[in-house]
Amino acid sequence: MRKLLKDYPQNEWTEAADGCEFCGAKHMVLIDWVDDSGNFGRVAWKIEHEEGCPERSFTAEEGDDIVGWEFMEKPHVLLGKEYYPLSSRANIGPCLECERLVVGIPLILFIDEGRGGELDFCWSCAKELGILNMVTGGREGG
Ligand SMILES: [Zn+2]
Ligand SMILES: [Zn+2]
Repeated sequence: MRKLLKDYPQNEWTEAADGCEFCGAKHMVLIDWVDDSGNFGRVAWKIEHEEGCPERSFTAEEGDDIVGWEFMEKPHVLLGKEYYPLSSRANIGPCLECERLVVGIPLILFIDEGRGGELDFCWSCAKELGILNMVTGGREGG
């Protein structure tokens, strides 16, 4: 995929790729500004933890941040699939598999020590695709 920020819905809440690892609540994101380049802007985010979630009182439940990214010219093949690595990314960027935004920290694979860009994935895609297993050398069970 080479989807840019301007290709995402704006001024409406949509589900992010990630959420709370304890209660499973998803981050929600709303892109409220995109600049003229079409790949940089601002996103508001929020999360509603389930009752009794331990994260609830320790972390912010809403905020806003800068969002945006650029792609490398050439795709990179990972586990038989082609991905365009990101050449740069603001605080918030996309998961290259499910294309949704990742509010928290994504799994990042640096290509050629970063000279070839980076591949970012949300943790559930990383797990599903076997990338998590690949980077942890199979230590992570299940
Ligand atoms: Zn939670
Ligand atoms: Zn994903």
